[in-house]
Amino acid sequence: MESTYIKEYKKIVSKLINKSFPILKDEKIEILQENTVWRGKAEFWPWKKRITVSNKIKRYRREKIIGLFAHELCHMEMSKKKGFLWLAIMWNIAKHSKKISSRIEWGTDMLAIQKGYGRYLLYSKKNQTDKQKSGYMPRNTVRALMKDYKDVKI
Ligand SMILES: [Zn+2]
Repeated sequence: MESTYIKEYKKIVSKLINKSFPILKDEKIEILQENTVWRGKAEFWPWKKRITVSNKIKRYRREKIIGLFAHELCHMEMSKKKGFLWLAIMWNIAKHSKKISSRIEWGTDMLAIQKGYGRYLLYSKKNQTDKQKSGYMPRNTVRALMKDYKDVKI
């Protein structure tokens, strides 16, 4: 049986895709919830398209969850545009290079901001530990960049 949480996440993801991620419209994306230290992870392999989220997001407010899924869908859009070979190479490089993985995360947030999700990103980045923040775009940068883009509402 699918949990009510997963149902709610699926609803959010399909709303996000319909509004802002037409490139992902025909993808079958699986959503999983697990006990993890990290909050979210996107996998976009030819044989597996999946977003895994942590159990701890159950107590997050809706805006924060939207920010998290918007970020993960941006990873998927970029992966689809760049293709499997790029993804396989980058995945291996990023595993060992903090600099490269950080560059990917900044690019991912930038795409989310361009799509109008800056406000939701600010929620998803609220109350994070220094360790969680490390390698990611800080809130004040998001706030500065989002001024150039129109807010969307989900
Ligand atoms: Zn990410």
